[in-house]
Amino acid sequence: MIPYGRQDISPEDIDAVTEVLRSDWLTQGRAGPQFETAMAAYCGAKNAVTVANATAALHIACLALDLGPGDYLWTTPNTFVASANCALYCGANVDFVDIDPRTYNISVTALAEKLERAELQGRLPKVVVPVHFAGQSSEMKDIRALADRYGFRIIEDASHAVGGEYCSRKIGACEYGDIAIFSFHPVKIITTGEGGMALTNDLRLAERLAYLRTHGIVRRARWIDEDGTPRQNEERYGPWYYEQIELGLNYRMTDIQAALGNSQLARLDPFVARRRELAARYDKLLARLPVTCPWQHPDTNSAWHLYVLRLNRNDIKFSRRQVFDALRAAGIGVNVHYIPVHIQPYYRRLGFEIGMFPDAESYYEDAITLPLFARMTNQEQDTVVAALEKILA
Ligand SMILES: *Cc1c(COP(=O)(O)O)cnc(C)c1O
Repeated sequence: MIPYGRQDISPEDIDAVTEVLRSDWLTQGRAGPQFETAMAAYCGAKNAVTVANATAALHIACLALDLGPGDYLWTTPNTFVASANCALYCGANVDFVDIDPRTYNISVTALAEKLERAELQGRLPKVVVPVHFAGQSSEMKDIRALADRYGFRIIEDASHAVGGEYCSRKIGACEYGDIAIFSFHPVKIITTGEGGMALTNDLRLAERLAYLRTHGIVRRARWIDEDGTPRQNEERYGPWYYEQIELGLNYRMTDIQAALGNSQLARLDPFVARRRELAARYDKLLARLPVTCPWQHPDTNSAWHLYVLRLNRNDIKFSRRQVFDALRAAGIGVNVHYIPVHIQPYYRRLGFEIGMFPDAESYYEDAITLPLFARMTNQEQDTVVAALEKILA
């Protein structure tokens, strides 16, 4: 079976991990901060905070932006459930904005219309989570303009998009969003096994993210009382001293994982370059078939986490299910991204219904994700295309 996604682990990656295993610090040593510095530099962001996974990053990002009971978080239905669940962890409410039928990202037009209505009802969102689907950035300039007008904060769910660019800057630079988060799950672009990161240019947000990740506990060299009085000389505040200042979590990444992340980061550019090459090759090889290849907004340069096709329903005599099953039977590990979050049973119990976000639902009816990963060979890709050609003939 040719998988839809797969990690690429080199001997150097293995050495980096075993070096940590032989050291004194399996967690909270040097590898974590090194990974943070390297990733912040790579993206052109001021601060980066490693986290146990991207779901945890989304959760503490919401907490750091004070999302809580009575508040609303809006996101796209065409995403993994984690982009919406993070609001519910904080006791806040979720709502969705339909997708742009060209990019499959959150629709800026639908967002603008929904904000206009929400303002009249006094129910504006506190946080909006654009998801850079498949590795292609959402239209961040437009979303920023709406944020300035309506006063919401932006968490970019860039789980698919590390290494991608928007308006010639790296995704994660946080030029338009308050916080951007990455996932390092093995199907994503680089991996730490499980792992995630939150990036921000706001130092206070970065500090808060860092202590929310570790029980809400701070250790500072120089203690200042709430009223501003220095107190470092007192007997009580010795080097052992720490203070829990908020209710945080244990969402730390281990040094074993961070070392793998550092080592993978060294190959991020070649990984993305190969993904772009394969995506361009798919575009060319599939041009004659009754399918719609992924359209790219001119402001973006995707990291190509996923290559998603839409079957042109009117030109194909088979259903998506039949095409999907035939590809799997031919050893092609296709997948589908995503079942719209609002039609999940859990979300329907919250009051969402089929029909509420028709563009996401219609997209879901005929989408198929083809295999795409850095180590995929041209020959493997030819096998995928030949299988699809045969099925659709
Ligand atoms: C993978 C993914 C997540 C969650 O990532 P984890 O690191 O597995 O927690 C969140 N959002 C999107 C869009 C994802 O694809």
